[in-house]
Amino acid sequence: MKITKVETFVLSNKLKENFFFSQWAYSERRICIVKITTDEGICGWGEGYGPADVIKSGINLVKPILIGENPLENETLWFKMYRKTLDFARRGVLVAAISAVDVALWDLKGKILKQPVSVLMGGQHRKRVVPYATGLYFSDGDNLVSKLVAEAKTYVEQGFKAIKMKVGLSISKDIILVKSVREAIGNDVNLMIDANHAYSLREATKLSRALEPFNIDWFEEPVSPEFYKHYKELRSKTTIPIAGGECEYLRYGFQTLLENNSVDILQVDICGAGGLSEAKRISTLANTKGVEIIPHVWGTGIAFHAALHFIANLEPIPGRLYAPEMYIEYDRTENDIRETLTAPSIKMKNGYIDIPQLPGLGIEVDEKVIRQFSTEILI
Ligand code: CA
Repeated sequence: MKITKVETFVLSNKLKENFFFSQWAYSERRICIVKITTDEGICGWGEGYGPADVIKSGINLVKPILIGENPLENETLWFKMYRKTLDFARRGVLVAAISAVDVALWDLKGKILKQPVSVLMGGQHRKRVVPYATGLYFSDGDNLVSKLVAEAKTYVEQGFKAIKMKVGLSISKDIILVKSVREAIGNDVNLMIDANHAYSLREATKLSRALEPFNIDWFEEPVSPEFYKHYKELRSKTTIPIAGGECEYLRYGFQTLLENNSVDILQVDICGAGGLSEAKRISTLANTKGVEIIPHVWGTGIAFHAALHFIANLEPIPGRLYAPEMYIEYDRTENDIRETLTAPSIKMKNGYIDIPQLPGLGIEVDEKVIRQFSTEILI
């Protein structure tokens, strides 16, 4: 069996309502997905996290490595792609391009061998995970508090057991927003905050201490991802657990984060950091330090399903008779591509999402939806 085709698609969708966070505003969704097909007509799908057009170019760069090769040898193909690109980009979007291909190869492998990806990765330690709602972004207008409170209540009504909100406007504004959301959702729902590295160590320390009374499960990307030691120092100054890692790449980047004891929770993005193959290696590395992993998840059902399989396969840390439940990040902001591209649709039942048991990632991609959102005219 041989790989005969590697096709990339950039999908774009203008948002009805712009939203923003501490770094910039979103006005569209723009996502690069990849389809890899064999001479027997079986195909696998992957997705890259990051600037879609650059990822598309990156996939085209590594395409000659893939054509004519056996798709079951996904780790040797991973290594060839990595060696081909490392002189120019040992981190960043070229790694995201490799990630997209890697996820597609795992999907393909599962479909060829008729097994779910998580089983092929070694097995499922759990059959279901707890989605937490990612939302509560900023928007223009003077009624931000009431908008966020209403949005947070919607997530509680939908059955979410945990919600993550944005901070990073300013320390004083953040305190008002977090206090209002905590009061609105009560104490039975877990609440996390994400600054997208908006703050200096001094500011992040001040904000964490002020937010400690609101029972925050973790403070995500409090400071810039370059400052590994600032993360560590912040951990010693607050009782709120510190999370980070969505801007980190490959085992080498995560090793730096781990060696510096920077985080309580490591947030590897499977479609950015090196794919499922590399995420599994990173999880082994994290395990040697006893650090928990809760992946960063963004994008379509392809990325979401890759994360479901990865989490299913994660060894529980610590192991115990009644193993702790695992979270999956579930972006709830506007994204028509996410809602329509893959089937079956993602379903939350009683606050849980089941690990897919179908072959590969466990999804079909609707090519009509690709034509609808593609930035190029497709025949
Ligand atoms: Ca984040």
